[in-house]
Amino acid sequence: MDIKQIIGQLIDIRCNSEEMAQGEDKQQPEETVWDLDLKAIDAAIPLLEKQISKKVESKTEDIDNQYGKCPRCGNHVDDENDRNYCQECGQRLDWSEEIKNENNKN
Ligand SMILES: [Zn+2]
Repeated sequence: MDIKQIIGQLIDIRCNSEEMAQGEDKQQPEETVWDLDLKAIDAAIPLLEKQISKKVESKTEDIDNQYGKCPRCGNHVDDENDRNYCQECGQRLDWSEEIKNENNKN
């Protein structure tokens, strides 16, 4: 099961828990077990999404390094300090895409 499938399953579980939460007797003021399930799923999905690598935006490079913007938080990243993950938000980064040289258009 890959991360996208796991997220899909969590969204299914979320729908079920939401129905159950709505079915609960709302005269109980305290959080129900279903509300807690929803909170946990809402917290887990963004964490999992960060594990799916995203392409670094606005990439540039010099002799030593590649630079760009984190696709999630917009933080400035470079391939030395943020090789695998954005240090700001934890987004997994993909540096593989070739830099398109604007001067080399056909
Ligand atoms: Zn980031």
